[in-house]
Amino acid sequence: MSDDTHAEAAAVRAAIDAVADRLADEKAYLTDLDSAIGDADHGANMNRGFQAASDRVAETDGEPAELVKTAGVALVSEVGGASGPLYGGSLLKASQELQDGITAETTIAFAERYLETVKERGKASVGDKTMVDALTPAVHTYKKSIEVDDCEPIEALGKAVDAARRGVEFTTPIRAKKGRASYLGWRSVGHQDPGATSTLFLLEALFDVATEYTTETIDRESVVDAEADHAPSDAAHADTPADSEALDGGE
Ligand code: ADP
Ligand code: MG
Repeated sequence: MSDDTHAEAAAVRAAIDAVADRLADEKAYLTDLDSAIGDADHGANMNRGFQAASDRVAETDGEPAELVKTAGVALVSEVGGASGPLYGGSLLKASQELQDGITAETTIAFAERYLETVKERGKASVGDKTMVDALTPAVHTYKKSIEVDDCEPIEALGKAVDAARRGVEFTTPIRAKKGRASYLGWRSVGHQDPGATSTLFLLEALFDVATEYTTETIDRESVVDAEADHAPSDAAHADTPADSEALDGGE
């Protein structure tokens, strides 16, 4: 594995762990949401599934695509509810798009494939009060922000999180047409969808990890640049305030 692939694999592990931690923190909240319009297991499902994903990924020595696939398989095998096959099966399928590593292009392809698979398997569209309502605007915003608005991937991901948050809000006033909540008919109105909410939490955790990694990369590059600027002949000036600032990465 090249150094870049190693770094990307480490980022993928960190991302899966961060999602698992966030969903563990939100277990009770997600269960509350699911108790209003479902069977009160969404928090436990997400927690168990992503914990298993994190454990299995820790035991796997692979490239990014392999790690994401492992996480997907863990979710499918650990979570029996609607959400296990939807989250897990879609991660598994979409992992193929990361064969060439983690770039703006591959992450767009990954996100689109993930959304496509969720919709195919769940047969849900926007407005059915499911995870699709958070995911669709997030994926479209991510792609558009990079391809049309020329944003850096991290900025695009931030915008995708905002779009997902609006998608979650949109699920509250509408009637469920798919999943368990649809059995309630109009009584599902006025409740926020649990799966859309866990999708938002997942994206927020990804954004946090991506921010950390982006900041680290920028810090590393600025240290390298600073060192290059002050190569041996300049070493005597290395203690000036301006130089220390540059070496601190401008924090
Ligand atoms: P279950 O409904 O089997 O108890 P969970 O409680 O873990 O499974 O997950 C419920 C969530 O799954 C819902 O809030 C919804 O977002 C999502 N969901 C359910 N059915 C579908 C579907 N057909 N397509 C997309 N998402 C769905
Ligand atoms: Mg449930």
